[in-house]
Amino acid sequence: MTDKKDLKRRHNVVIMGSGPAGLTAALYTARANLEPVVFEGMEAGGQLTLTTEVENFPGFPQGILGPELMDSMRKQAEKFGAKCVMKAITAVDFSKLPFKITAGDTVIEADSFIIASGASAKMLGIESERLLLGRGVSTCATCDGFFFKDKELIVVGGGDSALEEATFLTKFASRVSIVHRRAELRASKILRDRAQKNPKVEFIWNAEVEEILGDQESGVRGVRLRDTKTGEVTEMAVQGVFIAIGHNPNTKLFKGMLEMDALGYLITKTGSTETSIPGVFAAGDVRDSKYRQAITAAGSGCMAAIDAERYLEEHSVHA
Ligand code: NAP
Repeated sequence: MTDKKDLKRRHNVVIMGSGPAGLTAALYTARANLEPVVFEGMEAGGQLTLTTEVENFPGFPQGILGPELMDSMRKQAEKFGAKCVMKAITAVDFSKLPFKITAGDTVIEADSFIIASGASAKMLGIESERLLLGRGVSTCATCDGFFFKDKELIVVGGGDSALEEATFLTKFASRVSIVHRRAELRASKILRDRAQKNPKVEFIWNAEVEEILGDQESGVRGVRLRDTKTGEVTEMAVQGVFIAIGHNPNTKLFKGMLEMDALGYLITKTGSTETSIPGVFAAGDVRDSKYRQAITAAGSGCMAAIDAERYLEEHSVHA
């Protein structure tokens, strides 16, 4: 880990984010002697640190724990000279070169910048969810599942995340009901089959969570569900609510600065990772609303590193 005092004023490459995209970009730029600086952000290691077993990252036939994979990626990047700083970037100024990067009380300059800030969990947007977050409401089964031993839970969503979380939660909970707003799952067949075969998992179709019942002292005691077809409202007693309805890209800092799509994902040039500002590159989930896999994020981190290296060469600014 790097301390602020170890940083120079001006750097070849600054990377925002420490998931598979950020750390792969760090590895490649470090091996190109560009001495990258990685600002790890609020969720160091990214979303994989919130998962247990990763079974689909090539090279690990027995699977690997998400946090372990990320720890190895960081060590590998650091081995070649990447500096990882445990801070989140709070402001950027791309109006002139070198770019100005602020992370709290740390201000440095960068000749190129790679955005790999990923995406964060979406919420339902109801007041009770906000009040009860951390008191029975969670967005991370791996982090909080342990606290729900022999409890009854719901998982909201119908995608891969919802089914994966529901299956994982059956290790602790006595019953896990998947509440989905339609009657058709979005999730892949393998996860669907696994959940459907699990005797502790049940499905509640065409239902939306209208309200989470409970209070901050005693936590969640139930949910009020609304049938999306008939409008009928029912109450269900549960002690936990896991929200798994997708993610939002972490691009707030770049609103009005960089081109993004309607959902806030950064737009990069065809066949490149370059954003609408030369010298600023984007990799991983922050520019990918479609694939969103660790391996695709790592692949685009590699592309961003190569793009940044070529950009620095063309502009003769490699320090
Ligand atoms: P997702 O595929 O976007 O699915 C989100 C689910 O939440 C959908 O079923 C959606 O319903 C529902 N939803 C969205 N907003 C809602 C709201 N306000 N209220 C109620 N329900 C709502 O997101 P994801 O499951 O997080 O997956 C994201 C990506 O990561 C996917 O590409 C997925 O394949 C990948 N992933 C892969 C794995 C794996 O391979 N092991 C694990 C996790 C995620 P509708 O279906 O009606 O839109």
